[in-house]
Amino acid sequence: MNASPNLLDMDATALVAFCTQLGEKPFRARQLLRWIHVNGQSDIQAMSDLAKSFRTKLASTAQILAPPILRDSTASDGTRKWLLDVGCGNAVETVFIPEPDRGTLCVSSQAGCAVNCSFCSTGKQGFSRNLTPGEIIAQLWMAEFLLRRDLNQSDRVISNVVMMGMGEPLLNYEPVITAMRLMLDDNAYGLSRRRVTLSTSGVVPMIERLARDLPVALAVSLHASNDRLRDQLVPLNKKYPIKELLTACNFYLKYAPRDFITFEYCMLDGVNDFDTHAHELIKIAEQVKCKFNLIPFNPFEGSGLKRSPRQRIERFAKLLTDAGVFTTIRKTRGDDIDAACGQLAGNIQDRTKLAQRTLKFTAKKQLLNQGVSPNDLYVETIRPYS
Ligand code: SF4
Repeated sequence: MNASPNLLDMDATALVAFCTQLGEKPFRARQLLRWIHVNGQSDIQAMSDLAKSFRTKLASTAQILAPPILRDSTASDGTRKWLLDVGCGNAVETVFIPEPDRGTLCVSSQAGCAVNCSFCSTGKQGFSRNLTPGEIIAQLWMAEFLLRRDLNQSDRVISNVVMMGMGEPLLNYEPVITAMRLMLDDNAYGLSRRRVTLSTSGVVPMIERLARDLPVALAVSLHASNDRLRDQLVPLNKKYPIKELLTACNFYLKYAPRDFITFEYCMLDGVNDFDTHAHELIKIAEQVKCKFNLIPFNPFEGSGLKRSPRQRIERFAKLLTDAGVFTTIRKTRGDDIDAACGQLAGNIQDRTKLAQRTLKFTAKKQLLNQGVSPNDLYVETIRPYS
């Protein structure tokens, strides 16, 4: 049996179509949007300016359903993290970061991630599935109205959204676009394009598509200053190397609400934090208008990586700044609840069998180190898993 449509899955256009299908006038869609996203109402019967007959019809044909909250934790610095149940053993995380002049929500777009960046906890969990538009926008809906209730505040709490949670948003394009349309819609959250940031690991063709469809602020997870290193840290680079990525960034800037791209750069001790890397980044900055955000790595179990020492990060930032490249060092938030950047993990039923493949790879490396001939490796490594 099919579940009834979830109104959280629908942006303004989809709601107009849905209302028309029910024999209602298009303006009903605007009323519905406002009830759901401006007032946070989930009870259709409580939408008092809709005709009773419409409410009855709607309640019997549609639902407003957000993923249940499995865990709600607050860090000592006020950062709040929710773990949301998206079914079949999968759970994703959403993080609210309060600051004196803004409230930022970090939103997930996929259950897991197939990109497998080496410094990212989500990537290490493998991939299960794309989130629906409703599961994406529900993170903002749930967080905004819970925070208003808990802070006893009637005004908007969340002023900025960053699509930087679990998943690669450009590999779940349509649902992400639908959810972002709602974020920007004046009858929903009314955020400006400059206050919604999409962060990508560099899916070049989709960057160009986003530029045309819905240009919001763009952040790119760069993390390396040359292709050889980036191939290792962000495997997607093998498909879309830095040169192509920079061309896509320049194309994006013709449409973007901000006149720069933010390059995120996770500082990994002894990996990408040498002076030579900073000099290579300066060359990159000559090719595209950008600013750098240096992120002190947040270690997680099994990553095998370490955070660059503070002094090193500051020197790296100074090299960039002295060359005229605008650079910030991200303040680490929510460490004590594992809500810091790159630490989001949730629970993922990995369909990519990543953990198993990683284990095999490690076993293979160990055998090679022990002097086993590469010709014998297939037999040796496959045995424990067959
Ligand atoms: S950094 Fe982003 S793209 Fe890379 S594995 Fe993590 S979630 Fe995926």
